[in-house]
Amino acid sequence: MTTDPSELYEQPIAAIATPPGAGGICVVRISGGNVFQCVNRLLGGDVQPIEFRSRNTFFHTTIHDCETGESLDDALVLIFHAPHSYTGENTVEIQGHGGVIQAQRLLNAILKAGARMAEPGEFTRRAFLNGNLDLTQAEAVCDLIQAQTERAAAAARVQLDGALGSEIHNLYDQIVGLSADLEHVLDFDEGEIADNFVHKTVPSMEQLKLSLEAMISTWREGELLRQGVLIVLSGAPNAGKSSLLNALLRRDRAIVHNLPGTTRDVIEESYSLSGIPARLVDTAGLRDSEDEVEHQGIQRAHALIEQADLNLLVVDQHDSEHEQFDSLLHFFNPDTLVLVLNKSDLPASRQPPLPCDVPIVAVSALTGEGLDELKAAMKAKLGITDNAQSHSVISQRHLEELRTAARAVEESLQLLTDDTAAIVIAAGYLREGSEALGRITGRVYSEDLLNHIFSKFCVGK
Ligand code: GDP
Repeated sequence: MTTDPSELYEQPIAAIATPPGAGGICVVRISGGNVFQCVNRLLGGDVQPIEFRSRNTFFHTTIHDCETGESLDDALVLIFHAPHSYTGENTVEIQGHGGVIQAQRLLNAILKAGARMAEPGEFTRRAFLNGNLDLTQAEAVCDLIQAQTERAAAAARVQLDGALGSEIHNLYDQIVGLSADLEHVLDFDEGEIADNFVHKTVPSMEQLKLSLEAMISTWREGELLRQGVLIVLSGAPNAGKSSLLNALLRRDRAIVHNLPGTTRDVIEESYSLSGIPARLVDTAGLRDSEDEVEHQGIQRAHALIEQADLNLLVVDQHDSEHEQFDSLLHFFNPDTLVLVLNKSDLPASRQPPLPCDVPIVAVSALTGEGLDELKAAMKAKLGITDNAQSHSVISQRHLEELRTAARAVEESLQLLTDDTAAIVIAAGYLREGSEALGRITGRVYSEDLLNHIFSKFCVGK
């Protein structure tokens, strides 16, 4: 379904594009409709109107309130003529002084001059409707803005450059080509499918299915980059959890003390594990405690252990008191667990019986020995690889559509292999698959799909 973009925009839309707060400049963006007339109302009477200026230019001027004539700001006004703008429409960006109040005054003046407030993501939505971006690129804009690490930003950048879009377009063309082949056989061979046709088509379909599955397999990596991971450090008091947190962060964040019960609540820090954004949480030592505050801290530790994507259970390998070790192990799902035998710089005491189904790493939080091995074990447990920047990664939305497409190809393949007379149904499946791929890039879209995607954007993007 398509909407004629020209029908939508009479009134220009406006929003502050820079984040709120004190800053050197703020940028207000205004796009579409009669944007130039709107901005002319903000200029002094003796200033040359925008229409009479050269195309795609900028100038320095004073911005006035169009109703009161009050001088509001000295600003730089940048003019973009359609289609050479982000949205593909006539657009003006006004760079005024930064600051929450000043930016709001500027925006209010623009609204008084005839613009309306933009909806979240409306600029990018217009860029999509005007063909400047496909949907994967529009989504990458959001990912880039929200990226928490270099690696997440690099992956979003690759997607914004169109890497994912062109892979999907390529798959789309293949599936549409196959569907056309089937329909051709229907039209010209009156439904009689020739054996050699099946021999030719089936390998192409199998190849397409493999390509779809290869893309599906990158989902987890994309999910980790976008959502980040929760890593929880827990263990008995004095095992060295706070020391390990500090060692991983390479700075003194948590208080380290040889008095058990020093960390009585959780401490949370942002951490980057090979570019995957993580929340690293140090918890209260797990033990039976009469102290009410410590007890609450321990309860929160248990809740976090359940939510964690990765649990680091820290054990003092120098300590011979292992009675609690067995009971501690019961709290953990082995799928999320890495066992850390800390204080490897000290002589080991008699080892407690260690589980054989979880990775075990010896470290010294004090000297840093074993930390690289620990990070490798953490990455392996989370399925993180080191070479992600160069290719695009898919989101949950892409995953669902790719699965639909893969299922459609699979069904179609099955039908053609089992019963060559079922060619009509097989072609129908392929059409379904092509629509699913079309929804990823926006070749096929509905208002609901666009609302869903752009509601996640901030106003001004
Ligand atoms: P937590 O209660 O588990 O957070 O333990 P802390 O990090 O507060 O450490 C408890 C004590 O063990 C402190 O005196 C630390 O200096 C000491 N400690 C922690 N890690 C190591 C280590 O790797 N080697 C040695 N020798 N001492 C450590």
